[in-house]
Amino acid sequence: MKTPAETAPNQPAAAVGNGLPLQVAVIGAGPSGCYAAQALRKGQPDLEIAVFDSLPTPFGLVRYGIAPDHQGAKAVSRQFERLFGQPGVDFVGNVSVGTDVSFRALLDNFHAVVLATGLGTDRQLGIDQDPDARVVGAGDLIRLLNSDPDSRLRHRQAGPECLGPEVVILGTGNVAADVARLLAKSDLDFIASDVDDDALRAVAPDPVRTIHILGRCEPHAAKWDASMVKELAEVVGVHLSVDGVSLLGGPAVSPRTTVNVRFRQVPVSIRRHDGRVRVTTRHVEGTALVDHLDADTVITALGFDSPPAQPAHVADLEASNVFRVGGPATGRLGNLAENRKLAASAAKCVLEFLRGQEPQQRTGLFGLRDQLPASTVSFEAWQRIDGAEVRRARPDRCRRKFTTRGELLAAAAGSDALASIPTATTAAIDNTGETE
Ligand SMILES: Cc1cc2nc3c(=O)[nH]c(=O)nc-3n(C[C@H](O)[C@H](O)[C@H](O)COP(=O)(O)OP(=O)(O)OC[C@H]3O[C@@H](n4cnc5c(N)ncnc54)[C@H](O)[C@@H]3O)c2cc1C
Repeated sequence: MKTPAETAPNQPAAAVGNGLPLQVAVIGAGPSGCYAAQALRKGQPDLEIAVFDSLPTPFGLVRYGIAPDHQGAKAVSRQFERLFGQPGVDFVGNVSVGTDVSFRALLDNFHAVVLATGLGTDRQLGIDQDPDARVVGAGDLIRLLNSDPDSRLRHRQAGPECLGPEVVILGTGNVAADVARLLAKSDLDFIASDVDDDALRAVAPDPVRTIHILGRCEPHAAKWDASMVKELAEVVGVHLSVDGVSLLGGPAVSPRTTVNVRFRQVPVSIRRHDGRVRVTTRHVEGTALVDHLDADTVITALGFDSPPAQPAHVADLEASNVFRVGGPATGRLGNLAENRKLAASAAKCVLEFLRGQEPQQRTGLFGLRDQLPASTVSFEAWQRIDGAEVRRARPDRCRRKFTTRGELLAAAAGSDALASIPTATTAAIDNTGETE
């Protein structure tokens, strides 16, 4: 089995086809990068592909974005695992292109480069906002609940803070519905999930009592799927109302969490007010109707942007052998189905480009072997992380992820240091299935 440092092959690949193996680098091992690699291999099975990711783990937001209680959607990672099981497809984890390895080095060593870097940051709200008011991005929050070692909420000086009993979520997309559902659920609702129990307990020691979801649009223009709203309404103990009208008739007993959705609300400012946060909104049709809503935390769920740092100089990014999929192509995060289609058509363009070229010798990953950091994580090393996380899960969870890069790298190396990492520290389960 290869160690992390052994990811780069120590011999160039055997010659295929016309004598020159075609080499493609994919930057980003999220769904867009994996779908692109899949489609490339399907179109030309002798192609050699190296998929780089800054994280020690593959699958991007499948692992760190899709809600931890949506294991069905996360299961797409199994088909990506089969991709990395093929000879000629390498996962090159814990290598940030632009920092650990230059983009130029990829252009020099591969016939084509595919940018699949996603959109890593929550879109900012462009309104008057007190910098000290407690405002968190939905992406950052869900990354925290998914154990992302890089989540900004994890790295606050005092660690992740409690959101408080009353929150406002700005935005009416699927991510807003995910956040509301996760914050409204109790411990038992997370059975079979891989939620980060410690993080959840820190931000919501109890299910959040009141959740206001505010959207600018008309109800019919909300970007969430009806199934997401239904799923939220069906969480036991949740009472959901939309513009004051109860959904599903409302509960017989007093609800544990009330979720109030209000449309046609345009946020105007976010200020600190009496130790809490005050969101001022106006009605979408005018400036006169102004409303105030006080809460403990505001969560923005307004879409995603590229992080400010690009992996390459603009001139390099515009080279004719550079292709884009997912966020770098569309400016939208999209969902799995959309990104799969985009990746398939980008792969077609890459293959057409490659077939139209007079192939020059490129050595692919082999040519980079001296530049890769010793801490590079291979696919086999990822499988060691995967196995360790599944083994350390508490009995009613499907995995317990490592939450720091140090732990992930120790697990990748199969280190004995893991023995010192405590397991199952969260609420103990007695044999009746009730939590203590
Ligand atoms: C909260 C939430 C819930 C979601 N739920 C669903 C759902 O239920 N169903 C669904 O279909 N979709 C869902 N999505 C959307 C889905 O996650 C995205 O469509 C998909 O992850 C986008 O894939 P991507 O590969 O373009 O980007 P990402 O998944 O973000 O992957 C990009 C990868 O690139 C890497 N990278 C970035 N820069 C570099 C660099 N310089 N060098 C090396 N690597 C780099 C990143 O580390 C990352 O791993 C959800 C998204 C979120 C945020």
